Amino acid sequence: MSFASLDLIDGLLRTLESIGYNTPTPIQKQAIPAILAGRDLLGAAQTGTGKTAAFALPLLQRLTMEGGPAAPNHVRCLVLVPTRELADQVYQSFHSYGFHLPLRSAVAYGGVPMDPQLAKLRKGLDVLVATPGRLLDLHRKGAIEFGQLTALVLDEADRMLDLGFAADLDLLFAVLPAERQTLLFSATMPDPIRAMARQLLRDPLTVQASAPNTAARTVRQMVFTTDKRNKPELFVHLLRKEGWGQVLVFVKTRKGVEQLTALLQGEGISADSIHGDKPQLARIKALKRFKANDVQILVATDVAARGLDIEALPLVVNFDLPTVAEDYVHRIGRTGRAGAEGEAISLICADEVELLRAIEKLTGAVLPRLEEAGFEADHRVPSTGAPSAPAARAPAAKPARGAAKPAKGAAAGTAARPAVKQPAPARDETPRPAGGFGGLKEELPPKEKQRSRGPIYGARAGSPGAGASGGRSGTGASGGQGGKVVVTATRGAKSTARAAGRAASKPGGRGNKR
Ligand code: AMP
Repeated sequence: MSFASLDLIDGLLRTLESIGYNTPTPIQKQAIPAILAGRDLLGAAQTGTGKTAAFALPLLQRLTMEGGPAAPNHVRCLVLVPTRELADQVYQSFHSYGFHLPLRSAVAYGGVPMDPQLAKLRKGLDVLVATPGRLLDLHRKGAIEFGQLTALVLDEADRMLDLGFAADLDLLFAVLPAERQTLLFSATMPDPIRAMARQLLRDPLTVQASAPNTAARTVRQMVFTTDKRNKPELFVHLLRKEGWGQVLVFVKTRKGVEQLTALLQGEGISADSIHGDKPQLARIKALKRFKANDVQILVATDVAARGLDIEALPLVVNFDLPTVAEDYVHRIGRTGRAGAEGEAISLICADEVELLRAIEKLTGAVLPRLEEAGFEADHRVPSTGAPSAPAARAPAAKPARGAAKPAKGAAAGTAARPAVKQPAPARDETPRPAGGFGGLKEELPPKEKQRSRGPIYGARAGSPGAGASGGRSGTGASGGQGGKVVVTATRGAKSTARAAGRAASKPGGRGNKR
C-alpha cells in the first residue's frame, strides 16, 4: 500500500517521497483515513510505530483543505505532549511533513523565554505543539484563543498523567470548543486514560499498534549483577572493554546523573546529561549534541525514557533499574528502533531484585544474567524464580577483571543468551556461546554499521525531514509492517459526512511561513 492510496494531497506526498517514506506503517494505514474523515481516535501506540505521522499527516491535510488563516492569537490545531523534548520532536515532525503546505506551526514549553512564543502566537497558528503547563500560562496571559480550534491531539497521554498534568488538562479541556476532532494516543491504557477517553472522545475509532511491550522483545537484553558501589567502575570498564559507541544511560536520581556524568568526564569520556533540574536550553543542547553524535554518553533520568527518537542508537544502559517496570520498556525502546539492532544492559545489585522481578513479569522473559570478573556481587542478587542455572564454572580465585561469565542464579539455558528480535521466537531457545558478553557481541554488526543502517521503511537522509532542522527521517518506525494493528470501528455516517464536506473545501493560499 502506498501513501497515495490513502488519498493524501500532493504537498504531503512530495514530502513523503523526499524523506523516503514509501509505505505507511500499520497505524498509519488505519489512522490516516479515519482522521481525514474527521473521526475521533483512541490510539494505543508507543513511539516507534510511526504514530506521529499517523496523526500529523491527516491533520496537516485537513488544516490545508479547510483553509485558514488563523486569526491573531488563535490556534487551529493543538497538540499536547508531556515533555519539552517530545514537544520539540513532534513540532519538527509537523514542520517537516508540512514543508510544502501553507501552514504556520510553533512549539511552546516552559523553561525558556516566553516572548518568542508570544510573538509567534500573535500571528496566529495552524498548529501549536505544547506542554500543558506553559500552555496554561499562555492562556492565563490572554495570549492564546481557542475559538478557531478544530483539532486536539493528546500524545503520550499516560505520561502526562504520570507527570501530574491531570489538573492542568482539566482546566484546558474546559476552555476548548466542544465541537472539535480529538485524537488521544497513549502507550498504556490504565483506567484514568480510559476515563479520559470516555470524557473527551466521541464515538472514537480505536487503533492498537503493535503488542504492548514489544520493544522488550526487539532489543537484546542482559543484566550484569554487581554490588552498588561497583557500578560506576563496572560501567567505565565495560565501555572500554567492549568499545561501546554511543550510549544512553539511565540513572534513577538527578544527583546520580550528575555524579556519573562528572565521573565519566573526569575519565576523559565525552558525556553530557539531561534531567529535570537542568535549564531547558541546556537539556536541548545536550540532546542535540547526542543526536548529532557529538557526545558519546548521554546520562539521563526518565525524562528521556519516553518518546525520544534517537536515530539508530545501539545501546541503552540502565545504571539503575527504574522503579516502575513499564519505564524499563520505554527506556529500552530508545534503542532497537526501526528494525535496527539494539542492546539494553542493566547493572543490578541485590536491592534491585524486586524491580527486576517486576520487569521480568511485565515483559514475560527472564533476563539473561552475567557477571564481569572482578566486579562480582558480594551481596548476591537473589534468583527471580527462574529455573536454577547450570553450574557455572566458578573460578577458584577472583579472576582478573575483564572476563564476563554467567551470573550465579541465572536462569538455566538463558544465562549467556540475549533476548531475540521478533519475529523469530524460536531463536529464544538457541543456546548462546559461553564466554558471556564477549560472545554475545559477535552477533552484532560493527557499531559504525549500526549507526548508518537504513530504516525499515526505507527512509533516507538529505530530505526536509532529515536536515539540520532536526527532522527525524532516517529511521523507520519499529512497529514494523508486520506489527499487529487492531481496529475497532464504531462511528456512524454523520461525522464521516461532516468531514467529507470539510475535506471538499479549498486549500488556503498563504505562503509557507514557519
Ligand atoms: P514515531 O513512532 O512517530 O516516533 O516514529 C518513529 C520513526 O519512524 C520516526 O523516525 C519517523 O520518522 C519514522 N517513520 C514514521 N513513519 C514512517 C514511514 N511510513 N516510513 C518510514 N519511516 C517512518
